[in-house]
Amino acid sequence: EPARLISADKRDEDLDTSLRPRTLDDFTGQAAARANLKVFIEAATKRGEALDHVLFVGPPGLGKTTLAQIMAQELGVNFRATSGPVIAKAGDLAALLTNLEERDVLFIDEIHRLNPAVEEILYPAMEDFQLDLIIGEGPAARSVKIDLAKFTLVAATTRLGLLTTPLRDRFGIPVRLNFYTVEELETIVTRGARIMGLAMGDDGAREIAARARGTPRIAGRLLRRVRDFADVAGAERVDRTVADKALSRLEVDTIGLDELDRRYLNQIARNFGGGPVGIETIAAALSEPRDAIEDIIEPYLIQQGFIQRTPRGRILTANAWGHLGLAAPADLAA
Ligand code: ADP
Repeated sequence: EPARLISADKRDEDLDTSLRPRTLDDFTGQAAARANLKVFIEAATKRGEALDHVLFVGPPGLGKTTLAQIMAQELGVNFRATSGPVIAKAGDLAALLTNLEERDVLFIDEIHRLNPAVEEILYPAMEDFQLDLIIGEGPAARSVKIDLAKFTLVAATTRLGLLTTPLRDRFGIPVRLNFYTVEELETIVTRGARIMGLAMGDDGAREIAARARGTPRIAGRLLRRVRDFADVAGAERVDRTVADKALSRLEVDTIGLDELDRRYLNQIARNFGGGPVGIETIAAALSEPRDAIEDIIEPYLIQQGFIQRTPRGRILTANAWGHLGLAAPADLAA
């Protein structure tokens, strides 16, 4: 995966959990998702039953893991976490499942990367809270059924399209997370600064928020870097000027695009005449994995109206040409 300052993939700073909201009320943004989850959690609690399985869908860094933790917390149950690529064998998943207690939350990140043999085990576990295991090999092989506690599977994926239909159908509560507004990110930055004990002006928080690519994880990362910069510069308070200086030095532009975003856009503009150009071609030209481009770079550029995904490939919009400071081809401008 590309190492980039504003990439939304997980890095060490997630280990510093001080900025993580702990309750649904503490969680900023995603109002519709939050309101729905609140109802489902309350209903399940009232009935003393396990919550239906939940699937979070959305780009990295928008709060899927955080929400899963909050749900366990609000349900008053244990939280166990793993991820698709980590569960190598059916037995690994079986071990996890048999250790769950009634109503526990099992969180599986990157569920689209689950190995198919493991996925097979998951179906009856989700549906009937049963494990179907084959013990032994050859003619001596026999199948055993083991009853599981009625748990809640909370899974996360960056792209719904990569999930098999039978798996997708087994989630009673699908929740899509969207990019955050600048106002929401401003609230998150202000709260983060308060927790860090950093004096932050409204204009400083707004500047960081505007350049966080719609993503709380990036907002947190930029906030930490701005704090470093302010500390070294001896600034007493982070205002717009301090924030702008720090972020410009980090090569995060005024709308939050970083070097890799710009390389992506420039590549399509200069080498492919603005497209349409296929994703594989772009990946090869940038020497970046296709997955990283589709998960991390493109969703935000699409949301900003900078590129369009068409059956013939990616096309730069007039907006993107404008942002690059280049003249759009005549047919696009027309
Ligand atoms: P995901 O699982 O979607 O990749 P995470 O839940 O790990 O994202 O969140 C990434 C980081 O952003 C975490 O450090 C978390 O504290 C922070 N974060 C996410 N959503 C919010 C939010 N709504 N308010 C404040 N911080 C948030």
